[in-house]
Amino acid sequence: MKIGLFGPPGAGKGTQAEKISTKYGLPHISTGALLRKNIEEKTQVGLVALEFIERGKLAPDDVVTQMLAEELKKCPDGFLLDGYPRTLAQAQTLEGLTKLDIVLNIEIDPELVVDRIVNRMVCPVCGKNYSKRLHSSDICDNDGAKLTCRSDDTEEIVKERLEVYEKQTMPIIAYYKAKGNIVDIDGNGNVDEVFARIEKALYDHDKNR
Ligand code: AMP
Repeated sequence: MKIGLFGPPGAGKGTQAEKISTKYGLPHISTGALLRKNIEEKTQVGLVALEFIERGKLAPDDVVTQMLAEELKKCPDGFLLDGYPRTLAQAQTLEGLTKLDIVLNIEIDPELVVDRIVNRMVCPVCGKNYSKRLHSSDICDNDGAKLTCRSDDTEEIVKERLEVYEKQTMPIIAYYKAKGNIVDIDGNGNVDEVFARIEKALYDHDKNR
């Protein structure tokens, strides 16, 4: 299955992506994670992306799309795509690269988002997200690595990222609604509650194919 995962920063995409990927055996493609890897490895893509990410802006479409196209070639049988498309132009480009079977749109009370993100820690090895409120140590359960905070998870940058989401990314929801392959998922509640809604949406989709 080819699944797209949508939602504003802090909606819980990363956490749900890990669960979906494990349960359905799908490779998780996160353009944000791929860009951060490029930044760490100081590649040309990373150098370009860094100045946008640190200001909460979107990296240039062509840079991200080229990187994604390479990744999609490695996953011909299915994937979970998180963080792409983020603009209408990217949504149209994606049509030429592959077809998503279903897009899961995680909706969340905007009031919760900033607090969630500024309290987020992430494992630099496996990418798992943690909340400082729920996880008292700074060690990853999966691999024992020391957790870090993303440099773009500050209150100021998060507010910018939310604005970018509203202006540049939200119009894509109408694009997929017109195609009829998007399902809204209530992202409020705990991780397992949200995951149960996702499982139901995927089950219903499969049943109706
Ligand atoms: P994320 O990990 O999905 O929150 O993405 C982190 C940052 O990476 C975003 O704020 C953007 O600066 C950049 N980014 C990720 N995906 C894209 C994309 N599809 N297009 C442009 N920029 C992106």
